[in-house]
Amino acid sequence: MKHYLFILFYLFWNVFIYVFNGSVWMYIFCFILFSVTVVWGSFDIQLKYFIDSTTQKRTKIKEVALTFDDGPTEFTPKFLDLLKEKNIKATFFCIGKQIEKYPEAFQRIIAEGHTIGNHTYSHSKNTGFLSSSKMIEEIKKCDEVISKIGNIKTDLYRPPFGVTNPNIAKAIKKTRKKSIGWNVRSLDTVIENEKKIYNRITKNLKPGSIVLLHDTSEKTCNVLVDLLLFLEREKYSTFTMDSIINSTNND
Ligand SMILES: [Zn+2]
Repeated sequence: MKHYLFILFYLFWNVFIYVFNGSVWMYIFCFILFSVTVVWGSFDIQLKYFIDSTTQKRTKIKEVALTFDDGPTEFTPKFLDLLKEKNIKATFFCIGKQIEKYPEAFQRIIAEGHTIGNHTYSHSKNTGFLSSSKMIEEIKKCDEVISKIGNIKTDLYRPPFGVTNPNIAKAIKKTRKKSIGWNVRSLDTVIENEKKIYNRITKNLKPGSIVLLHDTSEKTCNVLVDLLLFLEREKYSTFTMDSIINSTNND
């Protein structure tokens, strides 16, 4: 938690209360304003409100990162085929439970030179409400599966649903992970129309972009076909997330 924001709000609140001579409505107004900021801060990873997530690479070169969340799934091999064909390396933020379900796909991701990140063991819908010890358990359990089935370790962590709060921030710190966000959200799990997803990505793409995708559907696979052609046409190269976390040159 960025404490100066608390202090700032506290001062702001008190000045208002002073000016408006202790009006109850001013209290309520400030309280709502404060609450909205906190809730917004926990859902928008780009604000870096609770934890400093890497959401882009600072670069002048035309390069972007493709990241795939929530796998491995039955669709993952298709994604790997496409990436292999274009010789492109991506970053996969895998769920522990899914790795146990699709161990071969997971091993293939590693064997083909892609980067792996931790995306918790169970990707609980209650992620935002878990205690910090429960969150630590979620991250550690995923690490164990990654190490058991893939025989690798990862420093990378992506918060499920992009949600961060003080408990999650504490868990990330305790497990010594680097939180990785994005600055291009494809909304590929929400939007049905493939063309719309493709347009959303390509319209927002710029040097250093980190694109959030999911290797969980045929739909995203089809979008990837066009996206890879776009990258080729526009002469974009790609980078993986492990390549920038140790550099101070990232944002
Ligand atoms: Zn996810």
